Amino acid sequence: MAYLNENYLKLQAGYLFPEVARRVREFCEAHPEGAKRLIRCGIGDVTEPLPTAAIEAMKRAIDELGHRESFRGYGPEQGYEFLRSTIAQRDYRDRNIDIADDEIFISDGSKNDCGYILDILGAQNKVAVPDPVYPVYVDTNVMAGHTGPARKDGSYEGIYYLPCKAENNFVPEPPNERLDLVYLCFPNNPTGAVASRAQLTRWVDYAHEHDALLLFDAAYEAYISDPEIPHSIFEIPGALACAIELRSFSKNGGFTGVRCGFTVMPKSVLARTHDGRRLPLHPLWQRRWSTKSNSVAYPGQRGAEALYSAEGRKQVHALIDHYMGNAKVLRDAAGDAGLEAFGGVNAPYIWVKTPDGLTSWEMFDRMLRELNVVITPGAGFGAQGEGYFRISAFNSRENAEEVARRFKTLQ
Ligand SMILES: *Cc1c(COP(=O)(O)O)cnc(C)c1O
Repeated sequence: MAYLNENYLKLQAGYLFPEVARRVREFCEAHPEGAKRLIRCGIGDVTEPLPTAAIEAMKRAIDELGHRESFRGYGPEQGYEFLRSTIAQRDYRDRNIDIADDEIFISDGSKNDCGYILDILGAQNKVAVPDPVYPVYVDTNVMAGHTGPARKDGSYEGIYYLPCKAENNFVPEPPNERLDLVYLCFPNNPTGAVASRAQLTRWVDYAHEHDALLLFDAAYEAYISDPEIPHSIFEIPGALACAIELRSFSKNGGFTGVRCGFTVMPKSVLARTHDGRRLPLHPLWQRRWSTKSNSVAYPGQRGAEALYSAEGRKQVHALIDHYMGNAKVLRDAAGDAGLEAFGGVNAPYIWVKTPDGLTSWEMFDRMLRELNVVITPGAGFGAQGEGYFRISAFNSRENAEEVARRFKTLQ
């Protein structure tokens, strides 16, 4: 009989969203009237239709595939040149960041890239993640065998947790300890926090001092409204030698269902071998894609390219404005209800302290019962998330305003 990957057995049962779904189902069965009023502010998925620029580009691309003269089969494994060069130029070189076209690697999304990137990194690395955290960073390391077993509180042996609390504005400072691989995510899911230039500079300095590698998830960079906040880790001097950036078209262009994202892998980023050599990761990443992938659907790449057109940019801005309008409505409503609310200014998530010392799950039940609103309990994102809940601004304006009205009735 074949052996299975026992690392998968260390994973905590997909606890958060299945448990949310179970409690919502039970509530709806017991309270049909409440079920009719139910508004979901839990899931981190976009709700509004795709920008028309992307739709038209994808339709044209499909038509091309329908004619022998313009048909395309396999594309380049690292993504089409037209998209790689558009990204490198518009997101980086136009902002004075020296990124070459072939340092951009197109993928089927950032969640996917979080798992893929571990292919080229060693198993001995001391890995650090923020707490609370996007669970994908942790679970992919568990699956790859980079951790010990789970503890009672859901954390894993062998992972270093960086506490993100109100006292540090949910932005961790580098520790005194040596770490090899540090995940950072700004604007942050779930807390909605952003990191200042000074805070990111301290992480880049730390990476140089300790020979660490930063994995910077910028999936929500388009939501930054404060001109002082960096959109890319590569805005920080020295980051080109110590950071890999992950980006996605899911949250700016609404591509959660289309699937397209990219990593930025500078050729100057090095990692070491057992025998002490220092080698660039870029050739390994190039090879990983050539061997394991045939890239992303051609229409999706054309759709992503169209997000950079004049029309596409305008439509992306309109989408972001819509969601950030919701965020303001929801954040203000939580504040007016006497709750302490964070985030929601440069990110589509509002991170709210539970009142009266309630646990995250107690607050979840109360929001469900009293307001018929589904939120996400903070404890599901890590031990430091206990005592908080996340409200997502991904919704229609009517729903956001209705949730705001219901907040007034919170006992
Ligand atoms: C939504 C999200 C992503 C994007 O995931 P895709 O796979 O590109 O859809 C990446 N990181 C975080 C933290 C997210 O919330």
